[in-house]
Amino acid sequence: MLWITLFLAFVVAALAVAYVVHPLLRPGQPILVDAEGPFTDLILRKDTVLQSIKENEFDYQTGKLSAEDFQRTDARLRQQALALMRQIEQSQPATADLEAALEEEIRKQRTALPATQAAPTLTCPQCQTPVQMGDNFCPKCGFALTASAQA
Ligand SMILES: [Zn+2]
Repeated sequence: MLWITLFLAFVVAALAVAYVVHPLLRPGQPILVDAEGPFTDLILRKDTVLQSIKENEFDYQTGKLSAEDFQRTDARLRQQALALMRQIEQSQPATADLEAALEEEIRKQRTALPATQAAPTLTCPQCQTPVQMGDNFCPKCGFALTASAQA
């Protein structure tokens, strides 16, 4: 009888071990990502919201949105970002000021955006009329703008 008891105990133990280890052995399922899933997800969602805040600002600056639409969307997105940051706070050492942290994050997004708006405007040195990059002569006063046009 003893060997049957031992055998059953062994089977139960083996099943228990298999039950615990099984999820870790699934192919193509990195254990670290599993463990950090909820936290990583929060950060990704926060980054997405921050990106949306920037896109909303960009749409407003480029005239696609009215000031009213911009402010309504901006307020909603900032609420979402703060809520996500609060959740992230709870799973991380605290940052003193969430609002300041949000502004910092938005500022980082701003500098990360391509500087499409910041293209330098060229002006004629003689009459200050705006001229296009590549123009040889000022369209208003005819001033020679390039070395090749002056030669
Ligand atoms: Zn000119």
